Amino acid sequence: MKKIIVIGAGLGGVSVSFELKQRLPSDCEIGVISEGTDFQFVPSNPWVALGERTREDISLPIGTYLAKRKISYSGEGVTHIDPLNKKLTLGDGTTNNYDYLVICTGPKLAFENVPGSGPEGFTQSICTIDHAEKAYECFQQLLAKPGPVVVGALQGASCFGPAYEYVLSLESLLRKHKVRQHIPITFVTSEPYVGHMGLGGVGDSKSLMEHEFRERSIKWICNAKTTHFESGMAYVDELDRKGEVEFQHTLPFSLAMFLPPFKGSAAIASVPELCNEKGFVLTDSFQRSPRYPEIYAAGVCVALPPLEKTPYRLAYPKQVL
Ligand SMILES: Cc1cc2nc3c(=O)[nH]c(=O)nc-3n(C[C@H](O)[C@H](O)[C@H](O)COP(=O)(O)OP(=O)(O)OC[C@H]3O[C@@H](n4cnc5c(N)ncnc54)[C@H](O)[C@@H]3O)c2cc1C
Repeated sequence: MKKIIVIGAGLGGVSVSFELKQRLPSDCEIGVISEGTDFQFVPSNPWVALGERTREDISLPIGTYLAKRKISYSGEGVTHIDPLNKKLTLGDGTTNNYDYLVICTGPKLAFENVPGSGPEGFTQSICTIDHAEKAYECFQQLLAKPGPVVVGALQGASCFGPAYEYVLSLESLLRKHKVRQHIPITFVTSEPYVGHMGLGGVGDSKSLMEHEFRERSIKWICNAKTTHFESGMAYVDELDRKGEVEFQHTLPFSLAMFLPPFKGSAAIASVPELCNEKGFVLTDSFQRSPRYPEIYAAGVCVALPPLEKTPYRLAYPKQVL
């Protein structure tokens, strides 16, 4: 009888635990440890930020669904991993042993890299449900008192799609509310061109996105290094192909939403020789740690190599180098 623990109950961890339950012999014990009681469908956060979905629409009590499949659940979070003794410490101080561990802890958000960024500073985020709800409040204030909007991705960000989804959805809603003409929109990104997505483009995404932005009068700044934010003001250096500062922009805003760089979960990042310098798990072609053969990883927490060189070194596709 083997005991397998999955850390993280996001898209990665829930999929892994269901599949393990289906594929492994019935005497294997499977448990999931995450943070809090709910599974949240992260890709719907942009809709929450615009009032098109609520927290209840995109969350469910994951312990109940796992229990139906005889998978145990704790929402206490993992604070420490002892890989040599195959032991976990949880947020409530209890310990848990495992035979195999699957890490699916996704990203943590590195707003600290750019002063003034994030919901504790002056910009909005759609990365968590709490952030998305706060962003919705800011959207409502924008409707009441229109002003400039800046949307984008900070340097070191590795997930760009949600910024495009958010800016295009926002633009449509502003037209629907008949306030678009009072609200200039600028898209600011560390990508070398719009539609790059951290993937070197997807098909003809460059032309498609440029066309869409022109049609909707959305201005854009690429190769952007956002130096800092103050209340209602973004300070952005635009780099040339050599990575030197070519232009400096000062962008006023009533609403700013920026995707931050990602980093690994602290409990995972602190395990010696498990992760790269940003806390993402190093794996072989079997998604297994080369250092600790009982540990596997899946989802955004896995370290992936970059695809190509760009003026501002981007992270690909869902991690930070
Ligand atoms: C706004 C937004 C929109 C997106 N849209 C898309 C999309 O349309 N399509 C797409 O493919 N991808 C999308 N993504 C990326 C998407 O988030 C990921 O593909 C997916 O959520 C990653 O799943 P994951 O399980 O790796 O991480 P997560 O979903 O982040 O789950 C990680 C889980 O681990 C838990 N955890 C972290 N640390 C610990 C710890 N120490 N102990 C216990 N638990 C821990 C977290 O609380 C969380 O529950 C989007 C991302 C964002 C931010």
